[in-house]
Order: sequence, then structure tokens, then C-alpha cells
Amino acid sequence: MKIDVTEILKTPGEGMSFQVGGEVPIPETMDGAQAVGSFVVRGVATSTGLGVYVDAHAVGTVELTCSRCLGSFTKEMELDCEAEFVEDPDGRPQEEEPEVSVFALEGGVCDLGEMVRHEVLLNLPMKPLCSEDCKGLCPVCGKNLNEGDCDCEKTGFGVTAFGRKLLDALNETERGKKNGRS
Ligand SMILES: [Zn+2]
Ligand SMILES: [Zn+2]
Repeated sequence: MKIDVTEILKTPGEGMSFQVGGEVPIPETMDGAQAVGSFVVRGVATSTGLGVYVDAHAVGTVELTCSRCLGSFTKEMELDCEAEFVEDPDGRPQEEEPEVSVFALEGGVCDLGEMVRHEVLLNLPMKPLCSEDCKGLCPVCGKNLNEGDCDCEKTGFGVTAFGRKLLDALNETERGKKNGRS
């Protein structure tokens, strides 16, 4: 997802509009899963003399893994992106708090994928959910409860298997005592 800005680079103030589309691999999302985003980016690039300033709007979808049921799902995203592309980002004078992200301009070409990826990572939910009321996995058998209930006992109060053994043992002792006395 690249745009060639060589035409405007030499004339500060000169701009160009663009629209590009493509896939944006998201190497590591917050839940550690691989994700692929498919985006269309539309915007304008303006020459700053040192590079270009890009103001764009990206629309697309990102494939994510649900943090509850571990199923994959797609999330639609709409992002406003602002960035500066310069030949040598490290040699650029350091601002206290740069207002926009800075990316490398290579041979007069801006890689908008870098910019979109950056923005996606900033906007991803900490715990992605396939739906607000995702039921998740059964903690006992691991079945995806969105696909139906399992036969496991759900939370509730009652005598557990261990509790039953315990009661049996206590009853045995009680009976033993009684038998002993009589
Ligand atoms: Zn889910
Ligand atoms: Zn279960």
C-alpha cells in the first residue's frame, strides 16, 4: 500500500490526493494473535520540503481472535490517520512531543501500510470480543458455549463429588461410634 510522492516532493506546499487499497498485516495484536487487515485509504499528501505530511481516512476490516471463545471474527474499523513521512526519521530534529507519527520515506515512496498498522494497534480493543454477549468456553470441558450448552454442572450450590465422599466418611465414623457404644 504505497504512494509515490516524487512529483510533489521538491515543491513545498504542493499536494496530491490519493486512494489506495490493500492488505495490512498486523504482526502482533494485543491478544498475541496474528491479524490481517484489509483497508482502503483515501487522503491527501502535502510536501513539507523535508518530506510529506499525510492526512488520510482508512476504512477496512481486521481479523481478530475473541479473548473469550478464541474464535476468529472480523471487526470493521474506520481510522483517521495523520503522519509525516521523511527521508531520515532518526536524523529529524526531535520534538518534545511529536504531534504526529513519523515514518520513513524511501525513494520518494510512502508506505501507508505502516501508518495504518500503527493506527490499528492504537485502536484495537484490549480484550477483543466476537460479540458483547459472547458466552466463551466452558471452564470444565472447553466447549464453545456459543454453539450450544454442554452437560457440565454450572455454577450453583450443592454437594460436590468431594463433599459427598466427605459426608459418607463422617457418617461412617458416626455409625462406628454408635455401634461401639451399644
Ligand atoms: Zn467470542
Ligand atoms: Zn462443559
